[in-house]
Amino acid sequence: MSDSAFHYVEGVLHTEGVSAASLAEQFGTPLYVYSRDALTRAYHAYADACAGRKAAVHVAVKANSNLAVLNVFARMGAGFDIVSSGEFARVLAAGGRAENTVFSGVGKSAAEMREALEAGVKCFNVESIPELHALNEVAKSLGRKAPVSLRVNPDVDAKTHPYISTGLKSNKFGVAFADARATYAQAHAMPNLEVVGIGCHIGSQITEISPYLDAIDKLLELVEQIESDGMSIRHVDVGGGLGITYDDETPPDIGDFVKTLLDHIEKRGHGQREVYFEPGRSLVGNAGVLLTHIEYLKPGEEKNFAIVDAAMNDLARPAMYEAFHRIVPVVKRDAQAHNYDIVGPVCESGDWLGRDRELAVEPGDLLVICSAGAYGFVTSSNYNTRARAAEVIVDGDRARLVREREEVKQLFAGESILPD
Ligand SMILES: *Cc1c(COP(=O)(O)O)cnc(C)c1O
Repeated sequence: MSDSAFHYVEGVLHTEGVSAASLAEQFGTPLYVYSRDALTRAYHAYADACAGRKAAVHVAVKANSNLAVLNVFARMGAGFDIVSSGEFARVLAAGGRAENTVFSGVGKSAAEMREALEAGVKCFNVESIPELHALNEVAKSLGRKAPVSLRVNPDVDAKTHPYISTGLKSNKFGVAFADARATYAQAHAMPNLEVVGIGCHIGSQITEISPYLDAIDKLLELVEQIESDGMSIRHVDVGGGLGITYDDETPPDIGDFVKTLLDHIEKRGHGQREVYFEPGRSLVGNAGVLLTHIEYLKPGEEKNFAIVDAAMNDLARPAMYEAFHRIVPVVKRDAQAHNYDIVGPVCESGDWLGRDRELAVEPGDLLVICSAGAYGFVTSSNYNTRARAAEVIVDGDRARLVREREEVKQLFAGESILPD
């Protein structure tokens, strides 16, 4: 809780100028709470380091796709990185622009390609030869040329969790490095495609710069070959993936990270190319928390459980990756701390949010699950027919509801029972 957006005032946790206790009272729990100031500062860290350089920031929508969050970024001039037509619709609804949007993802449908091409997206990040053919066909039917960048798999180890490492040969993502030059030649030969760039995305929650430099070196080596084959590569997309501090990780500072990569590319003689960044987690992860309320304390012989009203359907990361989230009380108590597993009401043993935490708490207390702004609400589900949480953005001393709490009747509104 060192981040200035979330801090204690006289023993009560606040987001900017608003106490978490008053948020729980006003909006109920479980509740996702974001700080506009934290979102703004993280974006500025990227944008300021890019200022005056040939570089662009495309916010990875999948990390947090709430309209108000996207709108905060759009107002600051951000571009966006999308992986579905659903995300594209959100970007447009949030005030983002097609011409600042790049379309990533391994399985775009023809309908998604058509819609994005008609709207005029900046670039398609293509991941396979069949996808090149499909995009060429779509572009032909529209009498257009589609701007294309290949996502190359540089086969570097990002040294992160296997589920979020994407740049190894064994991953489903990208065109294999060894096949990339020939794949570019194929793209070049397709009349309705225009090769404009190259990219990679080597993983997520990466806390070192060196895997990026290794990946960039491999991409630039390819760029030189591809250009000698008669294509021109205008941009190099270095992907997203910069990590955040959940516990004791020490990722590089965003500004240092951006400058190091830009300087490296320049030193390698490629400073004329535009560099794209696609950050997700590092923009939103520590700008959000999940607020929850303790229903019961259940002491046991081997373990004590704090049963809270948030569950794996609200925040899937612990169940999915055994991810660590710091968990702190909203009101600090002057009492004996005990060891608890923080668990939800869902009928799965995998339904836990934190293990072995020392907490001085009583039933009815509020807890905050920290660092929940990225891959939090967006991966939530209705498992156990649980309505999804509300979302709030705090801006100074005001809090605004930016997504209503779901109602149970919405959850089966599209269902029907069989006729007689
Ligand atoms: C998920 C993803 C990102 C964002 O990754 P973070 O780890 O959240 O920064 C960027 N680009 C692509 C292609 C992605 O799939």
